[in-house]
Amino acid sequence: MTAFALRDGELFAERVSLAAIAERHGTPCYVYSRASLEGAWRSLDSALAGLPHLVCYAVKANSTLAVLDVFARLGGGFDIVSGGELARVVAAGGDPRRTVFSGVGKSAAEMRAALEADILCFNVESEGELERLDGLARATGRRAPVSLRVNPDVDPKTHPYISTGLKESKFGIPYADAPALYRRAAAMPGIAIRGIDMHIGSQITELGPYREAASKLLGLVDRLAADGLLLEHVDVGGGLGVRYRDEVPVPVADYAALLRELFSGRREKLVLEPGRWLVANAGVLLTRVEYLKRGPGKRFAIVDAAMNDLIRPALYDAWHAVEPVRPRGDVAERWDLVGPVCESADFLALDRALALAPGDLLAIRSAGAYAMAMSSNYNTRPRAAEVMVDGDRAHVVRRRESVDELFASETPLPR
Ligand SMILES: *Cc1c(COP(=O)(O)O)cnc(C)c1O
Repeated sequence: MTAFALRDGELFAERVSLAAIAERHGTPCYVYSRASLEGAWRSLDSALAGLPHLVCYAVKANSTLAVLDVFARLGGGFDIVSGGELARVVAAGGDPRRTVFSGVGKSAAEMRAALEADILCFNVESEGELERLDGLARATGRRAPVSLRVNPDVDPKTHPYISTGLKESKFGIPYADAPALYRRAAAMPGIAIRGIDMHIGSQITELGPYREAASKLLGLVDRLAADGLLLEHVDVGGGLGVRYRDEVPVPVADYAALLRELFSGRREKLVLEPGRWLVANAGVLLTRVEYLKRGPGKRFAIVDAAMNDLIRPALYDAWHAVEPVRPRGDVAERWDLVGPVCESADFLALDRALALAPGDLLAIRSAGAYAMAMSSNYNTRPRAAEVMVDGDRAHVVRRRESVDELFASETPLPR
């Protein structure tokens, strides 16, 4: 959090002024702090020191190459959910042999690419997927490394859209079915069983659900071992929550202490798949106020970022802090921050006390996770630029899209 702070009355990212970035690169613009990304990764990694583990960053939270590059340089692994994300990991210098592949709908082409790349493990989510993978691996004379993603049926007590470990969920294999499927997998010539996996949800701010789910998972691991099936790793997934507003996240030391308690003395290596926790507070979305509109019952600040840039408020009712880049001394009024997109759901923040004038720059905080990665071109809006700050330098890590690029792959009907 401290990577973005006021200096002489102006908001900075590390040692670079956000106003200077906006001036130079325009808005809307995502700004990330390298120090913040590295700090988060190191604090998790060092909290687990002594316990054999691999941190596999969940790429879908923010798949920008420069972000992947930062984690690859730290020796991290990756958790991918598509062939596209595998290509990104490789392009960013990440190691496929430290990459796990999650997701319920892996295509044959994606499986082939991942086999070819020699990834660490497929986290298999259904019997059909296991059969397809076995067939594809055999056809190329390989054995596919596999974990089964088991659904521990635990309530993570988070938003229903980001809750994934209940038995009603589309994710994972029902707990009760897992032993039989492991037996089947063990008999498949194209499958090499490596581990077990879970992921119960996202933005989890209590340890209880982790304890319950991981304990159930380890119980299963022990039953499998008693049947002669020894696993190499146990993947506890991601989901660790962060502070957006007033949430009280699980301190990393407490999370690590729980994992130590559960894993100390065990033979299996621990794998983790944190996404949001590593990146959310390492980024802001810079936007400029276009117009102020005072209606009968409401005041709207129309800004140049929109739901296509940051969909979390519209999709999950998510709350992001909004800070003026150059705070004014004036009396604050209450504003809804809305974008130019033609949807009533196009809001970034509601009912915020701010002193605003047209042209002001605002920083939307905690915009490092599920922000740029979920952006779209709705309303034919080019996606934002991305800048990564590293000390006193600011690198453009993704230039702003041009309108031409948005329809370069389209063709009108023949005349
Ligand atoms: C999304 C996802 C993650 C990361 O979740 P966070 O809440 O961002 O930590 C990890 N594993 C799987 C399988 C996922 O789908």
